[in-house]
Amino acid sequence: MKINQDTFCGAPWFQIRNRQDMTKSMCCLVERTQTDLDTEAMSPLEYLNTSKLQKMRRDMANGVKVPECNICWNVEKHKDFSYRMQINSSLEGNGKWLDTYFKNKKDYKTNMVMMADIKIGNTCNFSCVMCNPSDSSMIYNEWVKQKDSPFVKEYTEKDPDYFEKAKRQGFKQVNYREYIESVIENKHIKYIKLLGGEPLLDQKLLNMLYSIPEERKNKIELQIVTNGSHNLVEQKLKLGNFRRIQWNISIEGIDSTQEYARYGANWSTIEKHILEYEKAYPKNITILTCLQATTITGLPALIEWTKKHSLALTINLLWQPDYLSIKAVPKELKTLVLEILKPLKNYFVSKNAEYETCDMATLLSYIKDSTYDKKLHHKFMQYIAFYEKGKIIPNFLDVFKQWRPYYEV
Ligand code: SF4
Repeated sequence: MKINQDTFCGAPWFQIRNRQDMTKSMCCLVERTQTDLDTEAMSPLEYLNTSKLQKMRRDMANGVKVPECNICWNVEKHKDFSYRMQINSSLEGNGKWLDTYFKNKKDYKTNMVMMADIKIGNTCNFSCVMCNPSDSSMIYNEWVKQKDSPFVKEYTEKDPDYFEKAKRQGFKQVNYREYIESVIENKHIKYIKLLGGEPLLDQKLLNMLYSIPEERKNKIELQIVTNGSHNLVEQKLKLGNFRRIQWNISIEGIDSTQEYARYGANWSTIEKHILEYEKAYPKNITILTCLQATTITGLPALIEWTKKHSLALTINLLWQPDYLSIKAVPKELKTLVLEILKPLKNYFVSKNAEYETCDMATLLSYIKDSTYDKKLHHKFMQYIAFYEKGKIIPNFLDVFKQWRPYYEV
């Protein structure tokens, strides 16, 4: 079989991803479709060999830029490094086996799962400002008591079973357990990415990883997206000799910014976990953050902190919900933030093709060019009151003092 290098992607052949509700995908950039709904109980190979996936592989092998992958085609159109390229180069990193594999291949069925994104469901020990019950069990517990709030109704009016579905998303469900067993026991697996909720809360999953035989462990790369609340050095010692362990730590700022935006977080504990790990095993941590209205004034301090400790930083843009995006931030406040950010212009912001990330220049122009929306600003303020309700938390304006002149009550 010949494959067209301009459109070939290893993801539909060798990668599996489960969503919080256990529907499947081959890639985080491909949007959910109606046909995904029947995939909850499918094993990774059952999903990858559905007629939809086989057709996608055939089209891509024949040079078709399938519409499901528009995000990658757009990135490549601008001569940037796409997630497709990242996946293909990781696969090629394992030797020239791809050429041999496809030389002998006669059909579009796949027999190997080499890369897996495992989402553990919504079990989480934080309730962050930008998350919802599908992301965090803590938020589920808060929102279920406030079903009359307009912010909750936005979800339940779209889907009356919203809470029922979110409740089923924890890591205890049978489909999830069967799925991770089949991923981890499969001898071809080379990359495992764990996402939450908070993946380090799933002790059964961790036990499975601890007990992978050493000769398999040293062929597997682990990537763990965590909130930093667990001791990373201790975890690394328990996990053992994986080929590589990469930690992606999601934080929204330092000190009170982090503790406000990621409710449940203790900054000094998180900082200690990160710096201890960086000292013991340098260059295996990336800080993930997102540009959003709540924490925009804390972004310069976070960038300075990552720079001081030579930690890679990836900044994503928050689009949804729109009232938490920077469209809700008045122009004067954005100008103030830009003035502080500009002197940091040479600082390298790590680029990760999987996310919609930006370098410093893009970040500055994005903040500068975003249009202020007064309605979103008002909705943002109402949401902040809703977020603070029932929490032992300082007032927004006491944490984010630069907001004071611009917060239109
Ligand atoms: S969106 Fe990109 S990375 Fe994902 S399957 Fe398509 S080409 Fe591959």
